Amino acid sequence: ESRAYAHNCVAALEAAARAVHDAEAVLGDLDAIAGDGDHGRGMVRGIDAAVVAAGIALDLGGGAGTVLAEAGDSWADRAGGTSGVLWGAGLRSFGENLGDVTAPTSEMLLEAVKAFTARIRELGKAEPGDKTMVDALVPFTAEFRRQLAEGADVAAAWTAAADQATAAAAATAGLRPRLGRARPLAEKSLGTPDPGATSLAMVLTVMGPHLAN
Ligand code: ADP
Ligand code: MG
Ligand code: MG
Repeated sequence: ESRAYAHNCVAALEAAARAVHDAEAVLGDLDAIAGDGDHGRGMVRGIDAAVVAAGIALDLGGGAGTVLAEAGDSWADRAGGTSGVLWGAGLRSFGENLGDVTAPTSEMLLEAVKAFTARIRELGKAEPGDKTMVDALVPFTAEFRRQLAEGADVAAAWTAAADQATAAAAATAGLRPRLGRARPLAEKSLGTPDPGATSLAMVLTVMGPHLAN
């Protein structure tokens, strides 16, 4: 049917919600080391709101881009916290860039991923190395682009990119935060991965199989 891909987008958000619920305590503990400990709760609130909004948009006849943009708005509204604002705005940009497409090409998905990344970087103003979600997002985007350029299909390219994001998130343990709530306790944060980079890698990993189809 003509809205098949919109259903995939809802399924991607539902998969993300399951992963975030499972990781809520772990993400909260990571954020408690140098931040305020609310990252797990904030991600759960944001993704749950996103799933509800996406379902409503789908029921109202919305296509893929509309579903994702509406999901992003609810995420930003309901999550609270820095990461929720960035995730919500990024998702809206992803959806707006994609549009209500029924079967995106790899080029369309690459452009949407680039829009997602650009929006998060523009709003948060974090640079690679600042110990934020950008440290997982930038390698994800670079690897996705590289894999597609080398002729990989979307599913394989996304998986390879998500693996890069996961490795990069783990590697943030070696960094000191230069932005956000964790900055004043930067030394305490050393040795622990950034919570926002960790959850970003997690969410991108589980969304891939849905968005790639
Ligand atoms: P808050 O810090 O408001 O409590 P969260 O705990 O939900 O929000 O999210 C914290 C995460 O947000 C950090 O681990 C980091 O990845 C991300 N973050 C913080 N500031 C920025 C920023 N300026 N740009 C990008 N990501 C950021
Ligand atoms: Mg926090
Ligand atoms: Mg907070």
